[in-house]
Amino acid sequence: MGREGILIVVSGFSGAGKGTIMKELLSRYEQYALSVSATTRKPRPGEEEGKEYFFKSREEFEQMIADDALIEHARYVDNYYGTPKAYVEEQLARGRDVILEIEIQGARKIKKRFPEAVLLFVTTKDAQTLKERLLGRKTETPEVIEQRLARAVQESEGIEEYDYLVVNDELNVCVAEIHSIIESEHRKIKYNMELINSVREELRNFSEGE
Ligand code: ADP
Ligand code: 5GP
Repeated sequence: MGREGILIVVSGFSGAGKGTIMKELLSRYEQYALSVSATTRKPRPGEEEGKEYFFKSREEFEQMIADDALIEHARYVDNYYGTPKAYVEEQLARGRDVILEIEIQGARKIKKRFPEAVLLFVTTKDAQTLKERLLGRKTETPEVIEQRLARAVQESEGIEEYDYLVVNDELNVCVAEIHSIIESEHRKIKYNMELINSVREELRNFSEGE
C-alpha cells in the first residue's frame, strides 16, 4: 500500500536559496520529485537544458500554453515561466511528493486548482542577507538584481497566502524543517483512511469473536 503523493509549492525571494535547498532536499530523500519548469529566460552559466529548466523561445513557450501543456504559467521580470503538466501528474500518480519551485502568481493558481497543495515560503532572516546572497551569486547584472529586489517587495505582501514560512539561515536546518513539514502533512487523517479503516475492521473482528 503506497502513500499518496502531495503537491508542494516552494516560493521565496530571488536569492533566498530555493535552488540550493532543493538540491539538498533531493539528494537526502528519495520521496521527492522536483518539477522542471519551462522558461524563456536564458540559461545561467552551468545550467543545463532539462535540469534546471527547459529553455524555450517565446514562440515555443506560447505554443505550450496553446497546447494546454502547462498547469500554470506566469511572467516574472520580462520572462515566461511555467510548469509542465505531464510530469507532475505522472509523479503524483506514482506516490511521489512533487515540488514546484515557482513564484507567487503561479502559487496562487496552483492553490486554486489543487486546494490540497501545501504552500511554503522561503526567506532569509533579513533583507541585507538577501541582497548579499543575490550579489554573491554573481549571475545577474546590478540592474536585474535591482528588479528582483523590487519584485521581492511585492512578493513580501503576499506571504499570508502561504501555509508555512521557512527561514533559510543554516541550510541543513532549513532542509530538515521542510522535510518535517511535509512528513507532518502525510500524517493528516485524510491521507491515512486506508490504514484507519483496516484497523477499524480488525477491531470489529476482535469484538465479534468474543
Ligand atoms: P534562489 O534559487 O532562491 O534564487 P539560490 O539557491 O541560487 O537562490 O541561492 C542564492 C545564493 O545564496 C547562492 O549563491 C547560494 O549558494 C547562497 N545560499 C543559499 N543558501 C544559503 C545558506 N543557507 N547560507 C549561505 N548561503 C546560501
Ligand atoms: P529564476 O530566473 O531565478 O530561475 O526564477 C525566477 C522566478 O521564477 C523564481 O521566483 C522561481 O521560483 C520562478 N519560477 C520558476 N519556474 C516557475 C514556473 O514554472 N512557474 C512560475 N509561476 N514561476 C516559476
